[in-house]
Amino acid sequence: MKTIESIKEMQGISDSLRSKGDSISFVPTMGFLHEGHLSLMRKAREESDTLVVSIFVNPTQFGPGEDLEDYPRDLDKDSELCREVGTDVLFFPSVEEMYPENFRTIVDVSGLTQVLCGRSRPTHFQGVTTVVAKLFAIVKPHRAYFGLKDYQQYRVISCMAEELNMDLEVIGLPTVREPDGLAMSSRNKYLSDEERKSALSLSRSLASADRMVREGITEVKEIETGVREIIESESHTRIDYVEVVDPEELTHLDRINGRALLALAVHVGQARLIDNTLIGEHT
Ligand code: AMP
Repeated sequence: MKTIESIKEMQGISDSLRSKGDSISFVPTMGFLHEGHLSLMRKAREESDTLVVSIFVNPTQFGPGEDLEDYPRDLDKDSELCREVGTDVLFFPSVEEMYPENFRTIVDVSGLTQVLCGRSRPTHFQGVTTVVAKLFAIVKPHRAYFGLKDYQQYRVISCMAEELNMDLEVIGLPTVREPDGLAMSSRNKYLSDEERKSALSLSRSLASADRMVREGITEVKEIETGVREIIESESHTRIDYVEVVDPEELTHLDRINGRALLALAVHVGQARLIDNTLIGEHT
């Protein structure tokens, strides 16, 4: 495995792979890798000749007062994990390499970024789309893999790639969970034992909503209320949002009539956790 810090060098490697006819899979991450990241990397490994993984804690997707400084990092362990899953190139640029002085370009997908997480994190998604557009131009992948745990991010990036005619496939893969249901996240590290127990209410509430829909409840208010009650019954939790939306447009639904996305964000102690599930596929 090569570790590359320079944009020019990464582009050179991708150019020569492409000129040989090799396909490139790409998994962008912010590091502190867990089984969720590794599931993307394994699938990406299977589907192309070359696997490129990036680790970059992107400052522009953190808002003021968010956890940029505290975000967990462990490059040695991450490199080892990347090697174990068969990564060919680990791209690990510095902030200065990615954002030289006077950097002024912003990629912004309107609409989809102003709902759900975009309401409480108004500049988050433009940070994500800008860095991912840059990473796509640097790594030049044929396929890029994202987790559906960050469903809104996946939708926003798919939309950006399609509308900007980026010549690659954006692939979304299922959320990987701990055995007790907690969605894996680098931010779970912030949870105390007691908070972690409270955080289980997120996946429990999603499962309960799924049951409600299977039992024939279609009124979204009723489902959202049920979810809120489960989460609010735990200590240390503060709900940011619980919403049922159209899975493509992310617009609010009043009634479930086919596929719908139930998405939530909850502060648990100092961590802000997100989770979601597709419901109503069987209605
Ligand atoms: P991050 O390092 O948090 O930016 O995540 C990098 C990629 O891993 C994103 O596409 C995430 O959606 C994905 N990811 C993070 N957690 C999980 C998980 N529990 N299951 C599946 N994918 C995940």
